Amino acid sequence: MSLIQKTPLEPCPVYIGGEWRELSFVPVLPVYNPSIGEVIAETPLCAASDVDAAVQTAAAVFPAWQETPPIERARVLFRFKALLEEHFEDVARSTTREHGKTLAESRGDVRRGIEMVEFACSVPSLLMGESVENIARGIDCDTIRQPLGVCVGITPFNFPAMVPLWMYPVALACGNTFVLKPSEKVPLTAIRIVKLLEQAGLPKGVLNLVHGGHDCVEALLTHPKVKAISFVGSTPVAKYVFETGTRHAKRVQANGGAKKFVFLMPDTDVENSVRGVMEAAYGCAGERCMAASTAVVVGDAAKRVLPALIAAARSIQVGPTDRDPQPQMGPLISRQHRDRVIQLIEFGAKEGARIAADGRSARVPAAPNGFFLGATVLDEVQSDMTVAKEEIFGPVLNVMRFEDLDSAIEAANLSPYGNGASIFTRSGKAAREFKHRIKCGMVGINIGVPASMAWFPFNGWNESFFGDLHMQGREGVQFFTQQKVSMARWFSFGEGDVWQR
Ligand code: NAD
Repeated sequence: MSLIQKTPLEPCPVYIGGEWRELSFVPVLPVYNPSIGEVIAETPLCAASDVDAAVQTAAAVFPAWQETPPIERARVLFRFKALLEEHFEDVARSTTREHGKTLAESRGDVRRGIEMVEFACSVPSLLMGESVENIARGIDCDTIRQPLGVCVGITPFNFPAMVPLWMYPVALACGNTFVLKPSEKVPLTAIRIVKLLEQAGLPKGVLNLVHGGHDCVEALLTHPKVKAISFVGSTPVAKYVFETGTRHAKRVQANGGAKKFVFLMPDTDVENSVRGVMEAAYGCAGERCMAASTAVVVGDAAKRVLPALIAAARSIQVGPTDRDPQPQMGPLISRQHRDRVIQLIEFGAKEGARIAADGRSARVPAAPNGFFLGATVLDEVQSDMTVAKEEIFGPVLNVMRFEDLDSAIEAANLSPYGNGASIFTRSGKAAREFKHRIKCGMVGINIGVPASMAWFPFNGWNESFFGDLHMQGREGVQFFTQQKVSMARWFSFGEGDVWQR
């Protein structure tokens, strides 16, 4: 008889009104370590009553938090930032454990999140309004920004640290209270980070954490005391969140899925562009909204760049990320997701694409139960194929070939998405033309992943974004505040008026 020692499950509590509580007798979903395919925690699925408790608490403490001067709110965030730095490695390891991305990628995930906290720390300047003296005779006019009330964040699995931090540092800095619902697939990093915020001295109830799926989200979207909803996830859910939230008169910003094109021009530097495309296509195992899903090969780039690109993809090692040495690429989030990506590769082959690098043949004897898939290249993809239309969200790079830049831009602009696109070229003219004509919100010139940083909006277009004000940067501050315009006139006839003496 052999004894198999199972790792004890990590607790997955909710945080409501400053109390951490494990829910009992509720349905749960497994959280995996995707490197070994083992369950490491169970996410409780909150009921509408748990959501109500979280929202009511957030509503009850809103008046006091709103009255807290912005610099005092910022000081909590300064302490939070210091704690995030102190526990940086611990948070990154938690991300790798439940998500599967490499430690280097998790460190990037946490670093980008910390930058949002740094941005939010400057909230007194960010809240500054405008004023005009004498807008009419003897009348001055100014604008101020005030918080909205209870705001909600609903986040995806692929950036367990960064995406929640896109939302609540800014919302809280602006004087709102918050309810966060992280992805049920990766709740543990969100919990760890919220514990640091608690340690930083955030008053009880200002931030609350619930878990769950559709029912929990529906309760948040329809709760009468919720004022604003920030969502990141796939396009169908983003659309549903936007429609339901706005139907209930809430302010909504909803980032959706994507399909990103990376153009390779005939004049491009081969080594730099291959490195850029590899990083963009296979970083985080392709589970990024800004992942390069399609290499658009223009003219002679097919001869100059493509062979090196395919060779580089074939050489990528995939393996478990929860130990050393670290591989170049980790597993996918779940067995089901890996199976879906494999199914899409097979659709591609059936519909006429040529499998130039086949990740299905990757073997990982060190971790036979992990959710691995190697780097795959599908060449000769046409725009009507399933792989060209659907977001794959895995380590699969489509290759589409075009005669010239014009026809390539025209084809890319037919995509219903519009998150990002990149071009690799030595020509300033080609880069300028591309930047001007490509229909998407974030453009990279010799940069494979032009994901904008904290100070600029994360700027999806089309079906990659529903709403008006994006996350990050000044738009993020505008989203989490409402503007008040005031006009003032002072008469000089008052009793005791100094000017009358
Ligand atoms: P998802 O849409 O499945 O889940 C996102 C969130 O919505 C989760 O919290 C989940 O619990 C909830 N949810 C899922 N189905 C729901 C339903 N039917 N009703 C109500 N709530 C539901 O997304 P995911 O698989 O976690 O993340 C991957 C997706 O996120 C990809 O499409 C990716 O492109 C996208 N994404 C977009 C951005 C961006 O900024 N545009 C950034 C990261 C990820």
